[in-house]
Parts: sequence; C-alpha cells; structure tokens
Amino acid sequence: MFMKTNEIIKRAREFAEPFRIRKGRDFRLKDVDPDDTLEFTKEADKPRAKEALAMGVMALAELQDKLYAQDKWAVLLIFQAMDAAGKDGAIKHVMSGVNPQGCQVYSFKSPSADDLDHDYLWRCMKCLPNRGQVGIFNRSYYEEVLVVRVHPEFLAKQKLPPKLVGKQIWEERFEDIRNFERYLARNGVIVRKFFLHVSKKEQKRRFLERIDDPLKNWKFSSNDANERDFWDAYMEAYEEMIQETATKEAPWYVVPADNKWFTRVVVAAAVIEALADLDLEYPQVGEDKLKELAAAKKKLLSK
Ligand code: ATP
Ligand code: MG
Repeated sequence: MFMKTNEIIKRAREFAEPFRIRKGRDFRLKDVDPDDTLEFTKEADKPRAKEALAMGVMALAELQDKLYAQDKWAVLLIFQAMDAAGKDGAIKHVMSGVNPQGCQVYSFKSPSADDLDHDYLWRCMKCLPNRGQVGIFNRSYYEEVLVVRVHPEFLAKQKLPPKLVGKQIWEERFEDIRNFERYLARNGVIVRKFFLHVSKKEQKRRFLERIDDPLKNWKFSSNDANERDFWDAYMEAYEEMIQETATKEAPWYVVPADNKWFTRVVVAAAVIEALADLDLEYPQVGEDKLKELAAAKKKLLSK
C-alpha cells in the first residue's frame, strides 16, 4: 500500500500521541502497559506494523534530507531503558533509511577518569549534534538520576565537593537538566526523549534467550542480571525522572517495549512527528543562483 508523506505524518502523530508526556506532574508509570500494542493485535497485525515501520522509515529519510539541506535545526534523540529493552534495535531499525552523513550515535557507558574530572553534562555536551544533523544518545546524562541514584557509590566517585552533595542533589539535577534542555530548544536543538518500558518478566525472557542462544551469548552480562535486584528502585527513579523532566520543549515518550516490532513503530512515529513539526523545506535559491545555474547549463550543453 502506497501512502503520501503527509498521510504518513498524520498516522505517525496518531501513534506517537498516546505515549507522549509533555507535563510530567501527573505521570504514573503504572498507567503504561509494557505489553500495549494499541489497535494492533499481536500475531495477526505484525506484518501490518512492519509495513507501517517501512513507510515511516521512508518518510523519515525524506524529512532528514530536508533537515540536512536546511542546516538550521539540530535534532537530539535520547534513549533510556533497562537492559534488554531494545534500545539498540530500535535505533538501528528506525534510522535504517537515513543518510549516515546526517546522523551520529553516541553510547554513554560508565564515565571515564577524564569524565569524572568534569561536571556530568560535559561528556554529553561534546557530542551534541551539529545543525542539520540528527544526534542519538544511547544512554545520556539521565543516567545521573537513574543508575547514580540507585547506586550511591557512583555518586561518591564523582569527586564533588562534599558540601554540594546533600539530599537536594536530585532536585537540583532535575532543575539543571530542565534548564539545559530549554537552553538547547532556544538554540534550535530539538530534544526528544524515549524511555523504552519493558516488563521485568519480558526482560527475564530476553536474558534467558541470550544465555540459551549461542549467537546471543555475547550480549549477556551477569551484571545486567544482577541489576534486576534493584528493579523497583529503578522504576521509582524512572517515574520521578519523567515527572520532573517531561516538558513542552523536551517531551518524554514512554514506549511499551515488550513487543519490539511495536516499540519501533512508536519510536519512528515520534521522530517523524518531531521533524514534521519543524516545517522543513529545501532552501530556495535566489536570482543570482538561478542565473549561475542557467549559465552552467548552457556551458555544459555547448561542449
Ligand atoms: P548494551 O548492553 O546493549 O551493549 P548498554 O548501554 O547497556 O548497551 P553497557 O556497556 O552494557 O552498555 O552498560 C553501560 C553501563 O554504564 C550501564 O550499566 C549504565 O548504567 C552505566 N552508566 C552509564 N552512564 C553512567 C554514569 N553516568 N554513571 C555510572 N554508570 C553509568
Ligand atoms: Mg548493557
């Protein structure tokens, strides 16, 4: 089935809307079912969802081409999730059609000694996308209110002056992150954030698959499995993070992640929505440029 870009954009908005959080205050994680697939019934509609993703990927490629040509806006997509929620797969599939020249992915792991010698935004600021580019953060400064909150020993390693580390530190971090993202928005950097929400049960299934399937053994880390002991603390941290940092200019999308094919459709839809809001156009060329083109054509045709 062939759909025009405008129709795809309309459908994308419908898919993204139920999962978009612009005002965090009343957000409750329990209201999002990780197994949700909207109107798609699982097995029967899976091919339809894959087709929707393929069309979404095409539309994205077109929008990104304009973003690149226009060279004014930058787009920053942030992915956060528990392990095995499908961040890597979502990034890979959703961005599969875009021009690699206009897209960069950065993965943020445990901070290095050099990172720890700076403020926590430092390493991320160095990786912000140029104008015309889509930048993807696979994990981000949000780890600072997630893993660092769940494991206070990480905070202890950050070399902060002790009198700056008190009970208020999380509140302060939320405030700084909100301000940072507003600053980015005011500079033409569009920020969209994704929490891929997988259930504890589905995570267990995926870990077991990584252990049982030799081709997936490399993906398994017993440390990831140990983090399951802290599941409830993580969920509380995620909930509060979204409550405190979902804003109009930098919304969170809380994406059901128990069905990978569905996660990818929603993420693609949200990215399309963000780009479509920019009213991207190819730059118009002026009189002088048109004259230059006509002259070049005449010369080319004459030889
Ligand atoms: P994958 O497992 O799919 O390769 P990943 O993003 O889980 O991807 P890992 O190398 O397994 O990558 O894990 C990175 C780890 O680094 C995560 O456990 C994450 O919580 C941790 N991390 C990231 N940022 C920070 C931070 N600022 N402080 C402490 N730990 C962090
Ligand atoms: Mg990992």
